[in-house]
This record gives sequence, C-alpha cells and structure tokens, in this order.
Amino acid sequence: MQIPFVDLKSQYLSIKPEIDQAIQNVINDTAFIKGKYVNDFENAFREIYGVEHCIGVGNGTDAIFIALKMLNIGLGDEVITSAHSWIATSEMITQTGAQPVFVDIDEFFTIDVDKIEEKITENTKAIIPVHIYGQMSDMKGLTELCKKYNLYLLEDCAQSHFSEYQEKRAGAWGEAGTFSFFPGKNLGAYGDAGCILTNNNELANKMRMFANHGALKKHFHEIEGMNSRLDGLQAAILSAKLPSILEWTEKRINNARYYDQILSDVKDVEIPKVRQGTKHTYHLYVIRAQKRDELKAFLEQKGIGVAIHYPTPLPFLKAYGYLNKNEKDFPKIAQAQKEILSIPMFPELTFEMMDYVAEQIKIFYTP
Ligand SMILES: *Cc1c(COP(=O)(O)O)cnc(C)c1O
Repeated sequence: MQIPFVDLKSQYLSIKPEIDQAIQNVINDTAFIKGKYVNDFENAFREIYGVEHCIGVGNGTDAIFIALKMLNIGLGDEVITSAHSWIATSEMITQTGAQPVFVDIDEFFTIDVDKIEEKITENTKAIIPVHIYGQMSDMKGLTELCKKYNLYLLEDCAQSHFSEYQEKRAGAWGEAGTFSFFPGKNLGAYGDAGCILTNNNELANKMRMFANHGALKKHFHEIEGMNSRLDGLQAAILSAKLPSILEWTEKRINNARYYDQILSDVKDVEIPKVRQGTKHTYHLYVIRAQKRDELKAFLEQKGIGVAIHYPTPLPFLKAYGYLNKNEKDFPKIAQAQKEILSIPMFPELTFEMMDYVAEQIKIFYTP
C-alpha cells in the first residue's frame, strides 16, 4: 500500500469542474492581476471569518512582512516569536530591520506564554504567536501580556485556517492575522498566495497600499511599497475551494480522532495534545515517537509518506548562529525536535489508509 503524505490531486478531482471553470473564467476575462476575482475572494474570506478586511498578497511570508512594516516595526525594535516555526516568521522580522527574539514551546508546540515576560525589553514592540500544526496558541495569556506591555499581537495563521480558541477564529484575535495559501496548506492555491485579515481600518488601508507600490489608486503613490499581490487565477481557485473548506476541515478533525483512537494504545507514541477550549484543525498530525528516526525510515520503506516539521528549531539554524543559542536555552523544543513525526494527514485519507499506518507503527515497536 502506498500512502502519500499529502494528496493534492484527489482534492482537485473532487471539485474538478468548479476549478476548471474558475481558471477558464479568469482567462476569458483576462483578469490576471487585481480585479473581480481577487475582490470576490477577499470579500468571501473576510465574510466567512467575520472580520472587516482581507488583503490578498503574494504569499504568507510577504503577509508577515507587510503587517510588521505597516505597524512601523523596524530597526532597533524586538519582536518575540516561537522557537518552533517555519523560518518565514523570524526571517520577516529580521527583514524589517528588527530583531527576532525566540521563546521556547509549551506542551502544545506553541509559544510558552510563561516564558515570554522574561524576554520583554523596552525595545519589544510585538509578539507573533505561530498557531502551529493547526492548533492555536494560548490567546488568553497572549492578549493579557500584550495589553500589559502595550505590544502588538500579530498572528501567524499559515497553518491554522479556521482553527478556533474559545470559538473565535485564528486571525481574529490580534492586530492582524497573516495567512498562507501555499498549495499544501489547509486552504491551498495552485501556486504562491496569501492574505492578511484585520479589523483595523487604518492598518488595512496602509497594508493594501504598501502591497501595491504604495498606491491605492493607480499612479498615486503616497508611499514607497512593494509588489505583493494575490493574482486572479489563484483568487478564483481559492474561491472555488471555499464552499468545501469547512467540510474538509471537519474531515481532517475526524481523521485525527480516528488516529487518536487507533494509536492510543501504542506506548512508544504520544498522540497530539489539544488545548482545552480550542479547535485544532490538523494542518499536520504530529506524534512524538521513541526511536523516531528508525520509525521514520521504517514507515518510508513501507510506502508511507512522513515528514519532520521541522528538523531544526529556528534558533539552532545556521542563519541564527549569531545568537549563540544552545539546547539549554530552549529545552522543550530541543527535546521535541528529536521525537516529532508528521504522519499522513489530508481530508481524503480513508480509514483503511489510517489503519495501515497504525498497523505499521505497531509492527515497528513490536519486539
Ligand atoms: C507556510 C508558512 C509561512 C509562509 O507561507 P508562504 O506562503 O509559503 O510564504 C509562514 N509561517 C508558517 C508558520 C508557515 O507554515
């Protein structure tokens, strides 16, 4: 049996007529940049979220950069974020001229709120929690801290479309929420794409302007900006997927419940912990496994797609060697990094496929 890590083709086939028509419409209307299809998607996405503004941008990395820049974060500032993320988060902090400050994780793989206060200085301007794997960070704790120290809260929602904390969605908590529509994300385009959600009118205007060469009206450049736009084809594809997204999200959750059940009796494996009062949307289903590297090789040999998100915690990457951090500075992610394994997770997974994955894991640990 071959079980891919993700299967984007089967999702396409399930809505092929809608996607093909959407692409054809954009070509017929030659609405390639900005225009109707981008507006339609922005409106649909912000409505489904119940947020005032959605600004389509080139990708989820740009989304973080644009939001930070328009919050006036730059040289001399510090931005606190999780030691456990895709490099995009910290990379964009640096690109604004500010300094990323890493904080270790809690038991849910999200930023440990109890470890933040000791890292706040007079230069700290913002906190970027990363709702990793589809699970939201401790928003109550983060909101209180940001209030107490007058910091911006910017949510990295690249892995948490439609995740919830106390029934309020990821991206609706902070000053702004940034999303990626990279093809493999829970809501994925057929190329690079992203967006920013915010309820702040002034910030929304600035971000929209900055992402399009500093102009809201063609040739009226009020500031210098950049070129980071959601394109018509990607927007139309995303709109075609939107009617199915909540159903696909429920399927991910159901698949996770099934994995939880069939893996719960494997004593060398720890299933993902879910924070109380949250809706985990399982962008990734990440187990903690003894003898992780051997298990990974075994499963791959059995035709099962697995991956490690991520093999090296951010502070230990060569890119951050200048910070001189070691495992003692981030003991929780240092430990987790040796145990985490992402197993196949996508809405179209079948019970049969999940049974096979669990069976092979059990065979591996049977003496
Ligand atoms: C994917 C991802 C990004 C970046 O998104 P792109 O669209 O690939 O630029 C940022 N942060 C996190 C946590 C991600 O997983």
